[in-house]
Amino acid sequence: MAAQTVVVGAGLAGLSAAIHLAAAGRDVVVVEAEAVPGGRCGTVASGGYRFDIGPSVLTMPEVVRATVGAAGEELEDWLELAPLDPIYRLTFHDGARLDIVPGAERMAAEVERLAGPEEAARYLAFRAHLGRMLEAEWGPFIDRNIDGPADLARPLALARLARLGGFRRLHNLVATHLSDWRLRRAHTFQALYTGLSPFDALGIYAVVAHMDTVGGAFFPRRGGMHALPLALAGVAEKAGASLRLSTRVERVEGGPDGVTGVVLAGGERLAARDVVVTSDLPAAYAHLLPPAARDWRVQRRRLHFSPSCYLVHLGLTRQLDGQAHHTVHLGRDWKATFEALTRHGGIQPDPSLLVTYPSPEDPDAAPPGHATLFVLEPTANTRAGLDWAEVGPRLRERLYGRLAGLGYGDLRRDSAVELVVDPPAWEAQGLTAGTPFSLDHRFGQTGWLRPQNASAGVPGLVFAGMGTVPGVGVPMVLISGRLAAERVLNR
Ligand SMILES: Cc1cc2nc3c(=O)[nH]c(=O)nc-3n(C[C@H](O)[C@H](O)[C@H](O)COP(=O)(O)OP(=O)(O)OC[C@H]3O[C@@H](n4cnc5c(N)ncnc54)[C@H](O)[C@@H]3O)c2cc1C
Repeated sequence: MAAQTVVVGAGLAGLSAAIHLAAAGRDVVVVEAEAVPGGRCGTVASGGYRFDIGPSVLTMPEVVRATVGAAGEELEDWLELAPLDPIYRLTFHDGARLDIVPGAERMAAEVERLAGPEEAARYLAFRAHLGRMLEAEWGPFIDRNIDGPADLARPLALARLARLGGFRRLHNLVATHLSDWRLRRAHTFQALYTGLSPFDALGIYAVVAHMDTVGGAFFPRRGGMHALPLALAGVAEKAGASLRLSTRVERVEGGPDGVTGVVLAGGERLAARDVVVTSDLPAAYAHLLPPAARDWRVQRRRLHFSPSCYLVHLGLTRQLDGQAHHTVHLGRDWKATFEALTRHGGIQPDPSLLVTYPSPEDPDAAPPGHATLFVLEPTANTRAGLDWAEVGPRLRERLYGRLAGLGYGDLRRDSAVELVVDPPAWEAQGLTAGTPFSLDHRFGQTGWLRPQNASAGVPGLVFAGMGTVPGVGVPMVLISGRLAAERVLNR
């Protein structure tokens, strides 16, 4: 039998790595501390309601298709994805609304309705520009392993990106293409997904807007977002991987001669020639890995973590007519919002909120006539030193007040269940700095400068997940699983 590979963690990255490795004939065991696979893409049930606790939409389904395809499976046999229409809805403090809708023509019509025909023409040109940027970045920089700075020095690819504005600030890049302030915000707020302000993030991250505004957003019709890891776990098992749930890896063993295995809580030892670690990366370096595992990117400098979030999951006793699946309510104080989150470690002065209403696509998540609602307010992470015992209740009051002002009515009165997750709760889940979004994507934590996915000190020790390359988010961590598998298979 082929030497065993252990994957630590059955989040999306771990499941992706397991599929690629098992499909290539490796003997794979995935060890997961929780009772269900999924990690951040998990699920919680309470009072007759079911809640997705992490991502609320799926972008780039082609990456999921490629992941299950590696094992010879068809996506449709495992997951029924509903395209969302609108992809999402944006509301602005002046009362304006912009629906991000599928298709260039429909979207241009929506831009024209809001900002006139000239802006619609500019929008179409910008949309094409975003497509060129994605193409310039995907193959050379995102979808492949990088072995050193020389690997990044691809003069033609870099020159192309520079010409497209990839090394300007995101805000400046977008502002040269779009003139309406609402359109600019609609294409820059996504910087927060990279943990940065659009005034600091590089233009290369304009492609995040392409991934959802152009590529669309999707939602599993049955079972919500948690259906995604369940499907991936099914594919991994069918390909021959075995999953050990409710089992914690206590430490990874090995040294300069190579990784030798893992020790589980309780003392059992699993021998392994390769180990793929997908748990929180800075915490792994601190507590899980052998001393010979070193990466100066993690250990010898100050790490910069993304902001965190304050989440409220509600089990509503009514439904919300006309509510989009995903609505982003943008606040007034644009620059101050990002400064509070990314520089001053505070809370937003006039909060932008993300509201998800999954019930129409996932009716089984709530009793008949009822619905679930998920409200996310970006906040500082726990490194900011806020006193959450004091800030949390204040934020909660403000959040309900803001939602009432936005037309949601009295949601406290209309909820049978309320679950709150604040940054200390993320930290209690083992996430460094109390953020589920890991390291931010500033230049010094991108590409070859991001913690690497193969240990230089311990051969066979490999990493996947949001803390390593290429980065945070569902498509990225699925890719990270494939890149980790390639590291193992090419050894
Ligand atoms: C609220 C929220 C909203 C989000 N929204 C979006 C979105 O809209 N779009 C998007 O693309 N992304 C979104 N994301 C980000 C995305 O969900 C994550 O980037 C991704 O799921 C991370 O996957 P991962 O496998 O890297 O890590 P994780 O999901 O954290 O997986 C790591 C796994 O390792 C396990 N583990 C840890 N330690 C051990 C141990 N010692 N032994 C065994 N197992 C262990 C954990 O239990 C966990 O299951 C969101 C995340 C959150 C939290």
